[in-house]
Amino acid sequence: MVSFPERLLMATLLALSAPPIGEGPPLRGFSEESARVQREWESKFRSTPEPDSLREAMRVLSRRPHHLGSTRDSVNADWIVQKLRSWGLDAKIETFQVLFATPKERIVELVAPHRFRATLREPALKEDPTSSQQAEQLPSYNAFSRDGDVTAPLVYVNYGIPEDYDRLQRLGVSVKGAIVIARYGRSWRGIKPKLAAEHGAVGCLIYSDPEDDGYHAGDVYPRGPYRPREGVQRGSVLDMPLYAGDPLTPGVGATADAKRLDRNEAPTITKIPVLPLSYADAEPLLQALGGRPAPRNWMGGLPITYHLGPGPARVHLRVRSDWRLTPARDVIVRIPGSVAPDEWIIRGNHHDAWVNGAEDPISGLVALLEEARGLATLLKQGWHPRRTIILAAWDGEEPMMLGSTEWAETHAEELAKHAVAYINTDGNGRGFLSADGSPALQRFISQVARDIADPEANMNVLTRARLRAIATASSGDRRKEARARADLLVDPMGSGSDYTAFYHHLGIASLDLSFGGEDDGGIYHSIYDSFHWFTTFSDTAFVYERALAQTVGTAVMRLADAELLPYEFTSLAQRARTNLREVQDLLKAMRDSVEEQNRQVGESVFVAVNDPRRPTVAPTVEELPPHLNFTPIENGTDRLGRAADQYEKALTNAMKDGGKALRSDEVDRVNASLLLTERALAPEAGLPRRPWYKNLLSAPGWYTGYAAKTLPGVREAIEGKRWAEAEEQAATLGRMLEEEAGAIERAAEELERLH
Ligand SMILES: [Zn+2]
Repeated sequence: MVSFPERLLMATLLALSAPPIGEGPPLRGFSEESARVQREWESKFRSTPEPDSLREAMRVLSRRPHHLGSTRDSVNADWIVQKLRSWGLDAKIETFQVLFATPKERIVELVAPHRFRATLREPALKEDPTSSQQAEQLPSYNAFSRDGDVTAPLVYVNYGIPEDYDRLQRLGVSVKGAIVIARYGRSWRGIKPKLAAEHGAVGCLIYSDPEDDGYHAGDVYPRGPYRPREGVQRGSVLDMPLYAGDPLTPGVGATADAKRLDRNEAPTITKIPVLPLSYADAEPLLQALGGRPAPRNWMGGLPITYHLGPGPARVHLRVRSDWRLTPARDVIVRIPGSVAPDEWIIRGNHHDAWVNGAEDPISGLVALLEEARGLATLLKQGWHPRRTIILAAWDGEEPMMLGSTEWAETHAEELAKHAVAYINTDGNGRGFLSADGSPALQRFISQVARDIADPEANMNVLTRARLRAIATASSGDRRKEARARADLLVDPMGSGSDYTAFYHHLGIASLDLSFGGEDDGGIYHSIYDSFHWFTTFSDTAFVYERALAQTVGTAVMRLADAELLPYEFTSLAQRARTNLREVQDLLKAMRDSVEEQNRQVGESVFVAVNDPRRPTVAPTVEELPPHLNFTPIENGTDRLGRAADQYEKALTNAMKDGGKALRSDEVDRVNASLLLTERALAPEAGLPRRPWYKNLLSAPGWYTGYAAKTLPGVREAIEGKRWAEAEEQAATLGRMLEEEAGAIERAAEELERLH
């Protein structure tokens, strides 16, 4: 206990160090007067989230398996609606009819050189009470695998990513007519069957290697947080880089009467059958493989020598699903704006899980609910957000962002007019704040992070994230960059959660936020992602859960209340310049490598190093990649940089006299122009071969999946050696950057005229 004089001293020190409520550094987009009021409301808000209520909501929502279409999924949605209504919020359910595949038959068996049948089962653990709810659990499977029944020789393909197939080709191993076995990791899972099919395989198995999230990483569940022998990662294998959402209704909402594709025509369903395996089930298959040993860095964590095959292992793979239209029930709350009701701030997290999903998604969803409770409390105390706030608990995220995508497509026209920003979370852990999203929101979210106290380190979450970036920098240059950066680095958006339709399809400024880095484990998409796991190994005190609610709630309030939208464009211009340099470096590296390889072919290097007992296929002379015309992008980024500076100057001028200019009614005109700046990044034509993806700054990679490809039109054309397309895309991108600069210039001019 602290003695009285000490307490007095501490109180004095606190009073000296903390500014009085309402004071603090300027808030972007607020006049000084409004910033004072805002800080008072925000500090009230941040005192509302409670670890106990976060914990209780997680307990309730993860009590039983609740995948899309299950009884519990529906019960949870209703529970969420009731909770929100009990706080006085206007909550309702919007339902869509989406295609969903659930397993009917699953067989994986070794038929030669001996027989073994995979159990395809995750056993209950006595320590984990929800792991025994087998009757309600979706069995382990990959949703939207094509139905099929194949028997074929097995080939080990490492992670099954493009460079692995290049390597196999050099080693003279073909997967044509084979079933491949790939380990999870290094790419999004849907890429593995896609590439396998492109290389002629007839089936695909994906297993969790203990090197990645099993005993190689640490103690396994229930002793530690990592994947146990029988743990399986479920997950969707739809071809997400083509389009997200319901496979039958690309680009339009999956309402009851929507026009639907025939299932056989749906291009995102896999071309070959796929099933996931635990390492317990994978080991006998891998052990039965012959052929040459796998390359050294392809050896995983199992106590065997990995071989490539093909054969003598032959595998029988049979997958049959129940394909049906399933209701996806999104919970939507609307808090109307008092001054600018036609400007919308949207905040979402999904509510469906693969099984119990305490971490994914409930740890993010309970933060959202706690934010809702906090906002509801403020509303009762007289807070009136300037803009409209929409809160969403999405259904059907796991099968492929179904609930959020169908909602976004259904409301596309309104969203294009009204949406200011979409903020997403999808689960949460312990550690450091990280953000993916729009560069235009980097400065904004950094200012929010500056005002959130880290619950376990004695500093704010911005400082902690910045210092960590220094600690983990991969090179001296990166470290220098990290030291110079005042902001939290907002990484480019790939895919893998509900922001996909908002950011990539509709061009809405977005953020995806979470705490993590001190919460490793291996229960992802298994029956062991449970309340017991989370409360034993993750944010056991629910303090990072509280920090997440404080962070996102503050961001939502600030976006909703700022007089001027807090976008900022110098980060955007900088990002475009960096990405351009990367693409130029990529082309140069490709030229250098082809040049070197051709030279070595000429010198007979490959003949000399070929071991005739273990022969490899020598490369042949390749055409040298041409120089490309990047001038349109260079001109575009230059103008973008100037426009960004012009906007910052206009804002500095507007902030004279305490930002009185921002209190003018005319500020709405500037905001209307600002809204268009993010839309300009996503022109209607979209990317080649995948027009659903419209954002030209970043996209999920065609052959990487979740991981973002920046300047994807140009970059992927170069990677695919489609030179004419690369030049076309450079011109398209240049035009887009000019448009974007123009939109920023208009906003800057309007801001300059405010007085
Ligand atoms: Zn999730």
